[in-house]
Amino acid sequence: MTTSEGDEDPQFQGLLDVIFRFAAGDLSARGRVSGDNSSFDAVITGINILGEEIEAQLAENERVEDSLRAASLYTRTLIEASLDPLFTVDRNGAIMDVNGAASSATGVPRSSLIGSSFSEYFTDPDDATAAYRSTFDDQFVSNHPLVIVDRVGATTEVLFNGSVYYDEQGEVAGVLVVTRDVSDRRRAERAEDLANHDELTGLYNHRVFYSLLAEEIARADRFHRPVSVLMLDIDHFKRVNDVHGHQAGDRLLRGLSAVLTRKVRSIDRVCRYGGEEFTVILPETSSLPTRSMAERLRLAVALESFDIGEAASLNVTMSIGIATYPEQLSTLQDLVKAADLAMYCSKAEGRDRSTVFRSDLSEV
Ligand code: GH3
Ligand code: MG
Ligand code: MG
Repeated sequence: MTTSEGDEDPQFQGLLDVIFRFAAGDLSARGRVSGDNSSFDAVITGINILGEEIEAQLAENERVEDSLRAASLYTRTLIEASLDPLFTVDRNGAIMDVNGAASSATGVPRSSLIGSSFSEYFTDPDDATAAYRSTFDDQFVSNHPLVIVDRVGATTEVLFNGSVYYDEQGEVAGVLVVTRDVSDRRRAERAEDLANHDELTGLYNHRVFYSLLAEEIARADRFHRPVSVLMLDIDHFKRVNDVHGHQAGDRLLRGLSAVLTRKVRSIDRVCRYGGEEFTVILPETSSLPTRSMAERLRLAVALESFDIGEAASLNVTMSIGIATYPEQLSTLQDLVKAADLAMYCSKAEGRDRSTVFRSDLSEV
């Protein structure tokens, strides 16, 4: 039997043992150095250093992985903590990722949302498509209004805010979409709108007329400017109801409100004071130009043929009263009373006319 010299060498055996343990994954293995300065010692020392280096490198990798895991968990927590539905979308409009709020708003679990088409979760898919495409083109899109609709038809009003994000190579990787839920805000706005506006005509109601007028009078006092009021009442309106029915009367009131709104200046405020009585507040307007405005409105109404349904149309006239603060009256109540009095004077004098308040009118 022939044996080589090295086979029996304990240093050589020790070296092989370390190499086999390394190969088996035990990086704590270290060879024993005899201290005789042999070439084996140099090799074992080299292998021991290599073992330490690899161990240190692996520990470092683990640390980096731990911190990456922590960073990713942190990002995910932030994303999930957002009450606003979040989506990431690719160039083809496919959803890449979402948060829990997006699942709630769409009523679709995250696993089904991923890969599906972003636009299909909106009441107007073409508008949603235009929004993410514009984001790819322009880098970002701000506050574009859209409505998310869930599987049973419930809607969430949102503002689409999109911005592109980049991969490690600096290429655009997709669009991050934050859809800010504004349903509550919109509901509050609608409630306020209902409280301030007349349901039939959409004009400011009686209560708002008084508060707007109070504001204008305060401004008029501060800047020593005039403010005028028109009181307008439809002539013989009862006949419209009697002859054509209440619905026809309602249609006429709506049509007439539209004419008034169209004819006044943008600073003027048209209000529905009562049934078929309207008021117009004219800020910064003295009595002479107010008279012109009154005539302009009177003629516009008189010349209009109002559609009252069933292919019928009707002409009506209005009687108007004009009063100006502080030229003629010094309180809000007196101003409104004066405009009313002047309007009744127009009625008494034959209707379809406007009258500027005069102090002797109270005797009419
Ligand atoms: P005058 O020329 O003297 O103003 O006559 P008039 O018929 O217009 O006056 P009157 O005040 O006697 O009648 C107003 C009518 O307006 C009575 C009421 O039925 C009607 N009216 C009030 N509010 C509404 C409404 O919201 N819709 C309809 N269709 N009619 C209304
Ligand atoms: Mg009336
Ligand atoms: Mg009337």
